[in-house]
Amino acid sequence: MFTYKRIIDISQPVRESSATFPGDTAFKRDIVLTHADSKVVNLTAFTMSPHVGTHVDAPAHIKGSMDAETELVGALPLHAFVGACLVLDLSPTTAGISWKMVQAKISSLPHLTERILFKTQTRIRYDVFEEDYAYFETDLVKELSSRGVKLMGIDAPSADHVRSKTLDAHHELDRLKMSWLENLDLTHVSEGEYFLVALPLKFMELEASPVRAVLLDPGGEGISPSSRH
Ligand SMILES: [Zn+2]
Repeated sequence: MFTYKRIIDISQPVRESSATFPGDTAFKRDIVLTHADSKVVNLTAFTMSPHVGTHVDAPAHIKGSMDAETELVGALPLHAFVGACLVLDLSPTTAGISWKMVQAKISSLPHLTERILFKTQTRIRYDVFEEDYAYFETDLVKELSSRGVKLMGIDAPSADHVRSKTLDAHHELDRLKMSWLENLDLTHVSEGEYFLVALPLKFMELEASPVRAVLLDPGGEGISPSSRH
C-alpha cells in the first residue's frame, strides 16, 4: 500500500492581491449573498484569469481556437499530474534553464521520474510580479522528453521568458505532448523524490486551470518501486 509521512502544499495563495502576468485578469471576489442578510448562506462569485496562482496550461493556450474542445484544459489526460516526481533545486536563479545546467545532476540519479519540478526561488512575494524569473530552454524540454519525462513544473510565472513573443518552451512542451505547471511554490521543499498530485479542474471551455498542487513526502524509505510507472 502507498504510504506517506506528510503533505507539502506547493500552491501559491490566490487572493485579490495575488500577482498577475502583465495584462492578465486579477482574482476578484464578489459577495452575492451574506449570511447576515440571507440568514441561510454566504455566497460568492469570482472572476480571474486561470493563470493566476499555481496552474496548468492546456495546448489551447498557445494555439488554435477556443472551440477546439480536445485542446482545452478539461480534456487533458490526467496521468502526468499524479505520480512519482523529482524536485531539482537550482535556487536561486533567474536564468533560462538549459540541459547543460542540469545534465550532471540528472545523470547522477539512479532513475528519473516522469515528473520534474524546478525550484528556482528561495522566497516568493505572492503579490509582486517579478519580471526576472527562470524559464525553460527548449533543449532542456527535448532532452527530458527523450528520457521519458511527461511533466515539467516551475516556481515562476511562465515556462518562457517574460518578453518572449514566440513562447518556444510552451510550443516544444506541446509538440512533445508534455504537460507543465507554472507558479509553483517550492520555497519550503528540498531536493528529492516525492509523489505529486496537481490535478486541473474539469473546465471544458478554458485554456488553463488552477491546481492545488501538493507533494506527498514518503519520509525515510522513499517511494516504493510499485508506485512508479
Ligand atoms: Zn500559464
